[in-house]
Amino acid sequence: MKSKVAFLGLGAMGYPMACNLQKAGYPTLVWNRSADKARRHGSECGTTAVEPEAAAAADVIFSCLPTSAEVAGLVARMRPQLRAGSVWVDCTSGDPEASRQIAAELAKAGVEFLDAPVSGGTDGAAAGTLTIMVGGSKEAYAKVKPYLEAMGKKIIHVGPVGSGHALKAINNTLFAVNLWAAGEGLAALVKQGVDPRVALEVINASTGRSNATENVIPERVVTRAWPHTFKLGLLTKDVGIGMKVLDGSDLPAPLLRLTYEVYQTAKREIGPDADHAEALKLIERWAGTEIS
Ligand code: NDP
Repeated sequence: MKSKVAFLGLGAMGYPMACNLQKAGYPTLVWNRSADKARRHGSECGTTAVEPEAAAAADVIFSCLPTSAEVAGLVARMRPQLRAGSVWVDCTSGDPEASRQIAAELAKAGVEFLDAPVSGGTDGAAAGTLTIMVGGSKEAYAKVKPYLEAMGKKIIHVGPVGSGHALKAINNTLFAVNLWAAGEGLAALVKQGVDPRVALEVINASTGRSNATENVIPERVVTRAWPHTFKLGLLTKDVGIGMKVLDGSDLPAPLLRLTYEVYQTAKREIGPDADHAEALKLIERWAGTEIS
């Protein structure tokens, strides 16, 4: 008999991920804080909208929420209905320490916890090509891998509970470094009279290239399209988690720490609900020029 699956949190990422689960042949129960979105998901993707208490009856429960705090809140709410032997898979870009506490709480109810944050953006979520990095027991990982395969392409077990979240936080901190650094460099080149399209053509055939120069800046900044897919507030949150990972490592890491300060400033000046690429609007403001 097929396991029952539930997905909690139908945001920019969760919505297409849960749709792909259903499309892969796993009848999926869905819950979202705003119930209208869950009902729309039902009619668009064929899932069944339920209350969290009903989702708790599933054998595999996915969550994709802004932070670990919202995950902990739902775990507390659903705890009385959770079933021993089930697995909770958290795709939030969460906090490793908070996840270890959630895992300990769930273990008391006989529920296993895996942190399984994802990378690849909303396009990767829609296409089912996410990278998924999983922390937790190998046995629980083996149980849920078929479901993860409905949502991702590169799926890797990376270590104990919390390690997926730690890796994701450092990955996004590196992305944040590259995005900001490229923004500063391109603004300076524009002031030297270089067309940013030409600059990017050269950089992307040279050693300074990154996902920021190859995709994000040409598609969002140079075009002035500014699509909203990943909030600046969420990227700043990820860099903040990266700082906690550094704290646990006893490393000075001045560049990564400075990056957190930079993004806190950008979030304050540009706003947490802006798209992450809009952080570069602050550089443009400082430079008195557009990267376009
Ligand atoms: P969104 O802001 O688009 O969606 C957030 C989701 O969480 C919505 O379903 C929202 O419900 C729900 N939510 C917000 N607050 C609460 C709360 N207090 N209680 C219950 N539910 C709540 O976020 P994303 O989908 O973009 O991001 C989700 C996670 O995935 C984050 O951790 C993010 O860092 C990570 N991520 C995002 C990527 C992206 O490109 N967007 C890429 C990779 C990872 P409602 O609809 O009611 O507002």
